[in-house]
Amino acid sequence: MRVFSFFERSARTFQHSPSYAKIIVIFAISGGGLVAYSDSRSDNGVYNVKSSQVDAKKKKVVVLGTGWAGTSFLKNLDSSQYDVQVVSPRNYFAFTPLLPSVTCGTVEPRSIVEPIRKIIKKKSGEIQFWEAECVKIDAINKKVQCLSNPSINSEPKKEFLVDYDYLVIALGARANTFNTPGVVENCHFLKEIEDAQKIRRSVMDCFEKASLPNLSHEERRTKLHFVIVGGGPTGVEFAAELHDFVSEDLVKLYPTLQGLTKITVVEAGDHILSMFDKRITTFAEEKFQRDGIDVKIGYQVVSVSDKDITMKVKPKAEICSVPYGMVVWSTGIGTRPVIMDFMKQIGQANRRVLATDEWLRVEGCDSVYALGDCATIQQRKVMEDIAAIFKIADKDKSGTLTVKEFQDAIDDICERYPQVELYLKNKKMRDVVDLLYTSKGNDKPESKELDIEEFKTALSEVDSQMKILPATAQVAAQEGTYLARCFNRMKDAENNPEGPPRFRGTGRHRFRPFRYRHLGQFAPLGGEQTAAQLPGDWISIGRSSQWLWYSVYASKQVSWRTRMLVIYDWARRFIFGRDSSRI
Ligand code: FAD
Ligand code: MG
Repeated sequence: MRVFSFFERSARTFQHSPSYAKIIVIFAISGGGLVAYSDSRSDNGVYNVKSSQVDAKKKKVVVLGTGWAGTSFLKNLDSSQYDVQVVSPRNYFAFTPLLPSVTCGTVEPRSIVEPIRKIIKKKSGEIQFWEAECVKIDAINKKVQCLSNPSINSEPKKEFLVDYDYLVIALGARANTFNTPGVVENCHFLKEIEDAQKIRRSVMDCFEKASLPNLSHEERRTKLHFVIVGGGPTGVEFAAELHDFVSEDLVKLYPTLQGLTKITVVEAGDHILSMFDKRITTFAEEKFQRDGIDVKIGYQVVSVSDKDITMKVKPKAEICSVPYGMVVWSTGIGTRPVIMDFMKQIGQANRRVLATDEWLRVEGCDSVYALGDCATIQQRKVMEDIAAIFKIADKDKSGTLTVKEFQDAIDDICERYPQVELYLKNKKMRDVVDLLYTSKGNDKPESKELDIEEFKTALSEVDSQMKILPATAQVAAQEGTYLARCFNRMKDAENNPEGPPRFRGTGRHRFRPFRYRHLGQFAPLGGEQTAAQLPGDWISIGRSSQWLWYSVYASKQVSWRTRMLVIYDWARRFIFGRDSSRI
């Protein structure tokens, strides 16, 4: 074994040294195995990483991204079965739900990140990590083109190619500006750790500048006008954090600026937190009003200059401009350029995000999976397959379905088309007989058989229950776990498929389709108050939910190290307040 690792180590040395980039084949006599390392230059001179193949039979899995989806995939993958390579410009995982807390120093940036090498070191098989950006996906030749991060001493970026057998795309999304002029140049975003750090510095900058002598009252007010564009969970949480920071800490440190700070939340829709229950929305709007946070509903930002933010006000489309000190833009997510380019290649150019099937396979190409914010599951409609479903359910081939035949097939139908189960649940129907009663009026369905038209009528409304999953960490993490389990069972499932029957083909699907389990969502509103919407539409608002928020977010940390650091940061904030140094 020691001989083996010696060879492995020396081979790795060659692999990282381009000048030795030739094929080295080492016969490890002791183990009787073949260790082959090969790096090469392709015809156009681009370095081609062919990965370390301790066992040449292992399939190459390339994972793009180390966010929620990519990391949860890696954590759950049995990496001893595959030759795994990870590509990401970020060599760490970031716990995004605590990013708003980083903007005001409630939590330190290093407390919510975990080095990806630490995560993969715990895995059984060898996993390679390349700190680089994927710039092109070539699904025909099964290669991804990568560009290393710019180095500090401005060495040129290095380009290389990585081959794959299976590609897992977990590239996330970028901030969406809706091409509004001036946003990129003048606004802060809140997507990455660096963004949160910049916001923290910028807040302090505004306070220090507003304290300088020779400024008029109005100028000080302008410097302390913080505008948040977007009334979604991120914008609202940042507004609440900033309000706490100002009222609990900064007011004591900048007594001369008391009463000059203004926080404005700009929302184009009719309410903030519109994805939450109405009770939460109302509570949040009322709380913000009490706290003096100005919520501008029905205001659409049309441009941002270096001094003013210009908005169109509903319903008359009047234009108004207000001066600001700092703007945070948080209006949702857009597609990354590399994904847009890939979508063009595979005939999905007219879509907003990559479409996958219920097994997370990208539609229109082979062995490529996509998960997290960069993709969405295109749920198959029952009505598209109704004839095929009828044919399979009609076991005796009589051309009609008895209630028994329908009942026998319903479990498979529900598994393949989750909207059917959701429909039955929402309509409070115990089983399919209820569905038949409704579709056939008062007739006793047991006495009748259904023809295809009646079957269509019975299921005509189920597709209305199809839902697009939200772009959240919860969805991304569950998809990562699900896909890793499929990969772990890939060989087994060939012979023992566990999925529902293929209604449009023969045999069964290898795996069950992905099912999302919603565990609830939080909206921290500041002042130690949080709104929680838990499964079953259970609503809780106030201090008790704040404690629930603390315990859930502490428990969801990826490691004990970050868990301890985050708890320590919260305790530090309680005792000493937040740090206002602009570093
Ligand atoms: P990400 O986590 O964004 O990861 C994408 C990865 O791809 C990153 O590692 C990135 O470096 C990498 N990457 C990017 N470009 C390339 C490239 N060209 N090549 C290779 N790698 C690349 N969700 C919740 O459920 N609850 C919350 O409370 C919550 N709060 C949030 C608060 C904030 C401030 C933000 C910004 C988001 C929040 N979300 C929350 C949403 C959640 O963070 C996202 O849904 C989640 O991060 C999506 O995971 P992902 O893996 O798809 O993308
Ligand atoms: Mg029949």
